[in-house]
Amino acid sequence: MTLRRADCEALDRADPLRPVRERFALPPGVIYLDGNSLGAMPKAAHERVNAALGQWSGDLISGWNIHGWIDLHERVGAKIGRLIGAEAGETIAGDSTSINLFKLLAAALQLNPKRRVVLSERDNFPTDLYIAEGLIRHLGQGHELRLAAPDEIADEITDDVAVVMLTHVNYRTGRMYDMAALTAAAQARGALTLWDLAHSAGAVPVDLAAANADFALGCGYKFLNGGPGAPAFLYAARRHHAAMQPVLTGWFGHAAPFAFEPSWRPADGIVKLAVGTPPILGLAALEAGVDLMLEASMAELRCKSLKQAEVFAALMAQEVGGFGFQSASPDDPAMRGSQLCFQHENGWPIMRALISRNVIGDFRSPGILRFGFTPLYLGFTELWDAVATLRDIMAAKSWDRPEHHARARVT
Ligand SMILES: *Cc1c(COP(=O)(O)O)cnc(C)c1O
Repeated sequence: MTLRRADCEALDRADPLRPVRERFALPPGVIYLDGNSLGAMPKAAHERVNAALGQWSGDLISGWNIHGWIDLHERVGAKIGRLIGAEAGETIAGDSTSINLFKLLAAALQLNPKRRVVLSERDNFPTDLYIAEGLIRHLGQGHELRLAAPDEIADEITDDVAVVMLTHVNYRTGRMYDMAALTAAAQARGALTLWDLAHSAGAVPVDLAAANADFALGCGYKFLNGGPGAPAFLYAARRHHAAMQPVLTGWFGHAAPFAFEPSWRPADGIVKLAVGTPPILGLAALEAGVDLMLEASMAELRCKSLKQAEVFAALMAQEVGGFGFQSASPDDPAMRGSQLCFQHENGWPIMRALISRNVIGDFRSPGILRFGFTPLYLGFTELWDAVATLRDIMAAKSWDRPEHHARARVT
């Protein structure tokens, strides 16, 4: 059946999430298919950040007490926890995804001291692998980073594996692991699990408690719409709190930071994984994004995201089927996050040409065009218009202009 633009307009009219778009500040005429990389700005972020600036100018250092800045990272972390099925007191916001990975991997290795292998996916997001390499080198205890293909992970959980460290939804292909099944498999063989939720939090239903996950972390600026460089978050299951020993023992993880004792003592619970002064302006913006996400139901978001992927894939086949795009995402929607990607030998100039026409996706080496679906603010008619623009670019070969071949630093 041919999909017409009118069909997409009808889907928009029937979309219960349609009004939420008005809560975002988006530039007119832009079709934004990159909210998986940097989420759009909630209008409330303006107000929240302005309010925090006013607190700073008006109350100076007193703001830490009177505006509750001192535990804002715990409060925002707790809200994120509700989005990912964590229990109260198991999550905290702050630091970057990379730093949180370092902290949690170190804690996990220390909790499983007889084993020496960190098992991960070869195509994991590079920073995750780099951080693991650096930590292993630093520990100097003969740990090994073992990399496998997604289908091989379960079989590679041998009895020397200390931690299975995976990104739940692959940043490139969108392939999603069965978190509960792999966690159970790992635990049955004596390994701990560490899940990176960078492309999951706010994108797909996540239930850390139901999956019995050990550790997790994720990103604030992708589907949570926390703004560029937003604080990240981390999770540790309560059963590990007493035994885990932070490697970055900063004063915000101390039992009594303002006692200024000469030696470190752990705070209770998840707070022991905090390190330094929380970034209040960044947390203010992140809280706006998280609050907006909490208003929607994750089931409703997932339902729209799956429909958007289905429509987009159908339009790609219908409109640009003859132009050499190969789907590089799993066919089964249950095994995908909230994005689709396509391989094309001219992926880079094609994406540049699309962006020059206000259709913003992104490019991931080698040759992958990536399109993210953010149901809070993306409409179905925009999907139609995006693919129609791609069809124009392919038919006219306008992607082949020299300006589209130049490489940028950020892709
Ligand atoms: C986006 C992303 C990161 C980003 O890490 P930063 O520390 O925020 O730069 C890390 N890991 C994965 C899997 C990601 O998708």
